[in-house]
Amino acid sequence: MYTNLNLLLRKISTLILLFCCNLLFSQDNNVFTVVIDAGHGGKDSGNRGNGYFEKNIALNIALGVGDRLVDNKNFKIIYTRMNDKFVDLFDRAKIANDANADLFVSIHCDSHTSNAYGAGTFVLGLHANERNFQIAKKENSVIFLEEDYTQKYDGFDPNNPESIISLVLMQEEYLDQSIKAANFIQESFVKNLKRKNRTVKQAGFIVLKYTYMPSVLIETGFLTNKIEGKYLNSKKGQKEMSNSIADAIIKYKKSISNTSVELSSNYFVENDVINTFLKIQIASGSKFLALKSYNFKGLSQLSYSKRGKNYKYYFENTNNYKKAKEYLLKAKRAGFKDAIIVAFNNGKRISMDDFFTINSN
Ligand SMILES: [Zn+2]
Repeated sequence: MYTNLNLLLRKISTLILLFCCNLLFSQDNNVFTVVIDAGHGGKDSGNRGNGYFEKNIALNIALGVGDRLVDNKNFKIIYTRMNDKFVDLFDRAKIANDANADLFVSIHCDSHTSNAYGAGTFVLGLHANERNFQIAKKENSVIFLEEDYTQKYDGFDPNNPESIISLVLMQEEYLDQSIKAANFIQESFVKNLKRKNRTVKQAGFIVLKYTYMPSVLIETGFLTNKIEGKYLNSKKGQKEMSNSIADAIIKYKKSISNTSVELSSNYFVENDVINTFLKIQIASGSKFLALKSYNFKGLSQLSYSKRGKNYKYYFENTNNYKKAKEYLLKAKRAGFKDAIIVAFNNGKRISMDDFFTINSN
């Protein structure tokens, strides 16, 4: 009986400890912010294939994506526009950046002189061929309707293929994530809706350049194609596209959350010894940064502590000093020149000397 009680007390104390540690090193909260960007609007109609309005179809699909996600408490939805108004490409990206969004999804419809049809999803990059360049050029030409566009977009010229190169550098660190999201969306179109697969491609879209998060641009289909245009202009077609995109976003979020669940369990190994551990402190400051690798030069396994108004950010977690030194090197190589190894015991910061004393026992 006494042993059982002892065991129970130990279990309770471990649970309390885990709870406290979770408060101290809270993993990123679970709310996932999606910015849904309906292409064009106001004086910019987008393409007018078969007499349809790209701006209206894009808006309906965008609002539909939000409708599908809004009841899911894991998501926060922000729109760049909710009605027929003109929004600069730069401002669309700014809305997403200000919201510190996790994903930016821009929704469009394509057009072509041929009978081309099908859905495709783009991430920012160098266009592999003339066709992809033309799609980006069309979507980018909106900036000619904006004032001061040469200043705003650093002299970018949508008509010049060379000009695209300067676009892609910024988004590069989000490329893997963007492709992942694009693949989920594309898979959803093809598997669930049997849309013709125009695959995931790269091209130089300005609206994707200025966002600081994984970002995709969807060409839902061709308004110039009789059948597809009619489908996209219909309530049924729009609802199906919306749901399909929303479901893909849910899958994408899940794929990311799964990783962080694994990460958090790494911090607390089942025995008591792990009460003492090392982390690499990589940054500190008064600003809260989401624990996303794109906020930390590509590093993952992140955690933070908060004292007063000051946040400290950490990389990795180990009770092995040799391993900690390897992680330190990795952090420095990533660009955190002032990174240091710090030690913790029972969730409290301790000196390295204390760490070695405790660990030698
Ligand atoms: Zn468009």
